[in-house]
Amino acid sequence: MVKQPTKYIFVLGGVLSGLGKGIASASIGYLLKSRGFSVTIMKLDPYLNVDPGTMNPFQHGEVFVLDDGSETDLDLGHYERFTGIEMSAANNTTTGQIYQAVLDRERRGDYLGQTIQVIPHITDEIKRVIKAINIPKKFEIVICEVGGTVGDIESLPFLETIRQMRMELGKENCFIAQVTLVPFIKTSGELKTKPTQHSVMKLREIGLNPDLLLCRTAYPIPRSVRDKIALFCNVHPNHVIEAIDVESIYEVPLVFYNQGVTGIIINQFLLDDTDHDISKLENFVYRVKNPSQRVTISLCGKYTSLPDSYKSVIEAFTHAAVENDAHVILHWVDTEDIQSQEDAIQHLSKADGILILPGFGSRGIEGKIMCAQFARENRVPCLGICLGLQCAMIEFARNVCGLKKANSTEFKKQTPDPIISLMADQKKVKSKGGTMRLGAYPCKLKPGTRAYAAYRKKMILERHRHRYEVNNKYQTLFGNHGMIFSGSNPELNLVEIIELKDHPWFVASQFHPELKSRVEKAHPLFREFVKASIKYRKTK
Ligand code: GLN
Repeated sequence: MVKQPTKYIFVLGGVLSGLGKGIASASIGYLLKSRGFSVTIMKLDPYLNVDPGTMNPFQHGEVFVLDDGSETDLDLGHYERFTGIEMSAANNTTTGQIYQAVLDRERRGDYLGQTIQVIPHITDEIKRVIKAINIPKKFEIVICEVGGTVGDIESLPFLETIRQMRMELGKENCFIAQVTLVPFIKTSGELKTKPTQHSVMKLREIGLNPDLLLCRTAYPIPRSVRDKIALFCNVHPNHVIEAIDVESIYEVPLVFYNQGVTGIIINQFLLDDTDHDISKLENFVYRVKNPSQRVTISLCGKYTSLPDSYKSVIEAFTHAAVENDAHVILHWVDTEDIQSQEDAIQHLSKADGILILPGFGSRGIEGKIMCAQFARENRVPCLGICLGLQCAMIEFARNVCGLKKANSTEFKKQTPDPIISLMADQKKVKSKGGTMRLGAYPCKLKPGTRAYAAYRKKMILERHRHRYEVNNKYQTLFGNHGMIFSGSNPELNLVEIIELKDHPWFVASQFHPELKSRVEKAHPLFREFVKASIKYRKTK
């Protein structure tokens, strides 16, 4: 039981979006957790979608799925990866959810004839949601990142709520960090403080003053510039932090730590300060920067121009690279460009390993199938994720089992061989939001398989986000041709992992292993995939 009142840290953004508030929040979370505090991190998103599950990854980046099946913002991925703390639906809320709750209450008549307004009804609901994460009380510190930037019309209700909470709880329980930008103007050779000044001014207009400024910059900020920011922004000079660009995002906590961020927060919260050991992360970052070998992995999919759509996959490779003492070079292949085996040869000639990415819809599918064929025939290590597994199976059905027209009913409803199809309960589903097979499901591994060798245990829990499943009718045929079903869901009898018998390392999963990879704890399938790719490179 935590006796102290809950301490809140609000992380806000100024000047422009994309400054890395998510990484900043995750880094503060890492530091406080490694300092011994029980911490959680929330993301408050100002958009009206109820969850990001229905949003285009081109606009919003990856949808991050949690154990409980909630579809959340990709920043939750950073929080889990950095802190290792498992999140739940309560860690992500949107304006859409807030309004939905208030309007449902209004329809039920709970407000007894009152006029429903942004203040106090919407702000009260935001407050309720923020506080609810710590009922029953488990955390000493709750970090809340507010999406968008200060000055957006959309984020005003959140900022007003923070103003009220700061009034009610006091500065010793409510800390405000603002991430801003200090741009460098090449022609005059100067770092400019005005954007930071203006964004803090905007915040002060609504009655909030930051306690800490995390100033994003490409160049070191001299003391004189920091002092100027401090003076104009009403912040202590030591609380103006130089958040300089770094090679690896995992260096950010170290940058903050070296400038005393943990101590600043702990002092304001009147908490006891003790020793803090961050050598594990220092060691991890050293290994990211000093690998002794290189390996090229080709990532085959369709959103390849926006790597944010595959954030977790990219990070999973960073973690797996460190455990293999390697640098993984990611080589993106747009599968719409692959229309023949000749194209595949051309695009995949550099690959030491091939990853078939997850996805939805038929665009680029035949190209993915050809990439799987290339990997199988040329004995290149291959990992397939979700749609990647489905494409690998279609390829195997067509080219090994002789079912020339095999397909998934997602792409061809009337296929004579629906080797991937909808389960009965999915056939009834009409609504798109939150209706897929989502979240953690158990999977039983078959001893003696590559999957078992990677995990070294019989039962695993992995996260899902898909509608279609392997059609069990074809299992015997596939098995007779050399496919191994190495993991299955024991309750629903669904295929979870497949692998190929006569291949150095060809494994595909219906679940998304990338969602469970963590800094200092790479995912077993990614770790083994990178290991197999290094081995393949050496024999090339
Ligand atoms: N489109 C496929 C399905 O719904 C795969 C989804 C995915 O790759 N996440 O089953």
